[in-house]
Amino acid sequence: MKRFFRTFRFLLVALAGLSVSCQSSNLNPTPMDQNDPGLSSTQIAEEENSIMVIATQSQADHYEDLLTASSLSSFTTSTPEALRFIFPTPGLASVSAWRPPLYPTPWVPTPYDHFYFARPIAANEVNWPLANYRYGGVFFADVVHTGIDIPVKTGTPIFAAGPGRVNWAGYGLYRGREDKDDPYGLAVVIRHDFGYKGQTLYTVYGHMSHIDVSRGEAVDTGDMLGLSGATGNVTGPHLHFEVRIGKNNFSRSRNPELWLSPPQGWGILAGRVMDEKANLLQRKEVIIKSKDTGEKYTVKTYGGGAANPDEYYKENLVIGDLPAGNYYIWVPELNTKFIDIIIYAGRVSYFTLYGSLTFNTNLPHTPKPVFQTPVVEPSSSP
Ligand SMILES: [Zn+2]
Repeated sequence: MKRFFRTFRFLLVALAGLSVSCQSSNLNPTPMDQNDPGLSSTQIAEEENSIMVIATQSQADHYEDLLTASSLSSFTTSTPEALRFIFPTPGLASVSAWRPPLYPTPWVPTPYDHFYFARPIAANEVNWPLANYRYGGVFFADVVHTGIDIPVKTGTPIFAAGPGRVNWAGYGLYRGREDKDDPYGLAVVIRHDFGYKGQTLYTVYGHMSHIDVSRGEAVDTGDMLGLSGATGNVTGPHLHFEVRIGKNNFSRSRNPELWLSPPQGWGILAGRVMDEKANLLQRKEVIIKSKDTGEKYTVKTYGGGAANPDEYYKENLVIGDLPAGNYYIWVPELNTKFIDIIIYAGRVSYFTLYGSLTFNTNLPHTPKPVFQTPVVEPSSSP
């Protein structure tokens, strides 16, 4: 019996870790690349271990208590269906639960950056992404996350991240109008008044409990769109936030952490983790540790599928909200050394890593201008 409870506790803790994320097995159904091998059993074990880390013992006890009040038989299988159970929001992941005020929007520290959006959650609430469910993360064997999840309780006001017009309001964003089973639940989409390099920008707000705006309505930054909730495929209340470019379709998403204005004095780290032949590596864990505070952050490289890189950085990893300072990073699976990196305030710090040895922090080459002044050959005749 004891053993049963121990096994059971493991399952619960794993579920607790998932409890505020999108239950996204239907949300982003784009299959992985044909040549993607999928998660091995070792990788799955690693996933579970990483999930274990974010739930404390007391939370595990709490979930165990909850469990006894609920149907045990519901948890005897690990089908995705079990994840439909709603659990309370677990504790935050192991990063500071505090942020300085944000830079004003649009925040454009270089010609290649585009922190155009304000955060959709007020500063007196958690308004940063759940660390273990970042953009490009893989929830289950073959599903890639096309947004970020902000862990807020049901009923938290959700604000427009920028000015624009409501392009969608209601159920059915993925499946079609008014489908109550839509994975995004009650959702709002804003088509923004500004674009990026000639392409339209959209922001998406999913799993809401209540919507205050209607289609076609003009909204400004900070206007209230409604309240957060747990509609659609979720395992607990949170806001799923996406940035889409060019077209209002989940396949056109970009990493919101490269579009949301950072806290003042804090920065963003983007990188390309590759093998020696410059092939991007998927689902590799990268650890970032502050030399100043000892605080440790973990991020995984994109899992492929529907995760799209930025056109300039061409990254396969982004972690925002890092206090400026000196850090070192390492990739355990590649047996890298501890690599020094500086996070600068209000900017993207960038690195490329080729296998375990070659590392640099140079920014990508500046893209060539599309039009070049034609060279006029000197004429031999007057
Ligand atoms: Zn999500």
